[in-house]
Amino acid sequence: MSVFLDEFALILSSCERPSRYIGDEFLSANKDFNAAKVRVAFVFPDKYEIGISNFGHKILYHIVNSNPNFMADRAYAPDKDFLELLSKYDKKLYGLESKKPLNSFDFLGFALQYEMSYTTILKLLEFSDIPVFSSARSEEHPIIFAGGPCAYNPAPISEFIDLFIIGDGEEVIVEILDTYNKIKASSRDDILKELSRIEGVYCPKFPKRTTKRIFIPNKESHPTKSPISHFVSVHDRATVEIRRGCGRLCRFCQSAHTNLPVRERNMDDIISLACDYVRNTGYDEYSLLSLSSNDHTNIEEIIAVLNDYFKGSGINVSLPSQRADKFSLKLAQLMQQEKKATITIAPEAGSQRMRDVINKNLTQEQILNAVLSCVRCGWDKIKFYFIIGLPFEQDEDVLAIADLIKTINFNCKNEGLKIPSITCSISVFVPKPHTPFGWHGQNTIAEIERKKQLLLSRKPEIKNAKLNFHSPRVSQLEAYFTRAGIEAGKFIYQLYKNGSYLDSWEENIDFDLYSSLAEKLGIDFAKEACTTFDPNCEIPWDIINTGINKQWLIGEYEKAKLAHSTIPCEVKCSNCGVCTNLKTKKYYDKKVNL
Ligand code: SF4
Repeated sequence: MSVFLDEFALILSSCERPSRYIGDEFLSANKDFNAAKVRVAFVFPDKYEIGISNFGHKILYHIVNSNPNFMADRAYAPDKDFLELLSKYDKKLYGLESKKPLNSFDFLGFALQYEMSYTTILKLLEFSDIPVFSSARSEEHPIIFAGGPCAYNPAPISEFIDLFIIGDGEEVIVEILDTYNKIKASSRDDILKELSRIEGVYCPKFPKRTTKRIFIPNKESHPTKSPISHFVSVHDRATVEIRRGCGRLCRFCQSAHTNLPVRERNMDDIISLACDYVRNTGYDEYSLLSLSSNDHTNIEEIIAVLNDYFKGSGINVSLPSQRADKFSLKLAQLMQQEKKATITIAPEAGSQRMRDVINKNLTQEQILNAVLSCVRCGWDKIKFYFIIGLPFEQDEDVLAIADLIKTINFNCKNEGLKIPSITCSISVFVPKPHTPFGWHGQNTIAEIERKKQLLLSRKPEIKNAKLNFHSPRVSQLEAYFTRAGIEAGKFIYQLYKNGSYLDSWEENIDFDLYSSLAEKLGIDFAKEACTTFDPNCEIPWDIINTGINKQWLIGEYEKAKLAHSTIPCEVKCSNCGVCTNLKTKKYYDKKVNL
């Protein structure tokens, strides 16, 4: 550490927040770089305070470091001032723990959480002295792999990444590192060819149709500690993943369709993991993580036991996303044991017709019951998630968002309850690969702006609601990248060459640069984002097999046109194809009666 501090003294003393760049956090693994047979650096292409909270990163870091043969280090995207200083003093990026240059690792693994971070990945490669194009890398360079939601359409960045991990990473990461350990003396091509044979790995140089990997969560693979950020990060809390996958099958949701089938962790393991994680880290909050946390078979029982365990300690629970139809008065009471956590509900659409189109399987009555249960228990702040620009949306569906809030206010008033303050986070529909709506074109920016004004015209009637709209311009770029083919690589490269960096932060996006480069390259990203494809045409993500039958997705799209719902796979299997094609099955915890 002292050698590093001497070497980087000038940079660290001149940059903002040097604590982002020094490592040595409490609970970091700090494994011996030289003693490890295979070394991997997990690189998060966003700022330290975002990356250090990422749960996927924590899982892989834990699994790799639990293996005596391997070591895992971490790196995050530095802020622009730090990059400038690296450039000025001719220094390269390094692993936070080992302080070894990133180009001295065997593997760099990038998290693909968000399309707008693609150019950041290229910049991080440049500052690691690694060629950005896979074709320009040789034996001396690390193998660059990437995984996460954006890997389900690898085409736009397939010229820059050597291997994509498709699906759950827990087992596949060990298999990749083990295989590499056995053949690391071979040529780079031979290594890549061998790794490309592993199920769940897509290698653009040796392409094959790739099937996602499925992992049945176990206790050992789950971390019970993780490096604690030197300063406030986005999620300063212990996290226990209670369930993977969601069988509700909302038609816009990529996570639901790419993480099937549902696999629940059992209650005893969840309790033990939560207690250990809190004890090891000293956090005063634990999150029970899932795509819909209160769908877990034993959610009330789990919180009741943990409430007892943590009684009087000031440690409280948070459920990151909740289904309104599973929110009961009992759950509301259980969650207020220590202090009031945030209640977040995602109706997604204001009207019943629209909720049927998107297959939300949620009635207005269920939403009202959830909100009133919270307000009766003393919550006065509720957060809602809505989406506008959804397929087959009409103006009255948008206005129904305001009507829903008015109805909530009316019901609270009627019961003599305090009217809650409501924050609505309103995003714009982005057609995601491997969903029934992946073919459907996005609304134009002008159309989204019109719908936004339409809803804002009703704002005086819902004074207790704050309406936060996601940017339609950014949403259009997301839609372009998420559905793009290999040709988008040229665009991404030119954006990077012209300074695009940390564009996951809207204030960094130079929209004029995007427009002028797109024009120069003959790319009409607005048209690409807003075009509805023929479901039977070839699409870039056809090379990835999620297990879902394409005809089933098309059938869901057709049902959406008629506002017909599909019963959640929790209730009845709708034969999406996953369980048969991937020879797996859904797994639920046994109901426990306390
Ligand atoms: S095949 Fe049936 S049970 Fe399996 S994920 Fe699909 S809908 Fe659910």
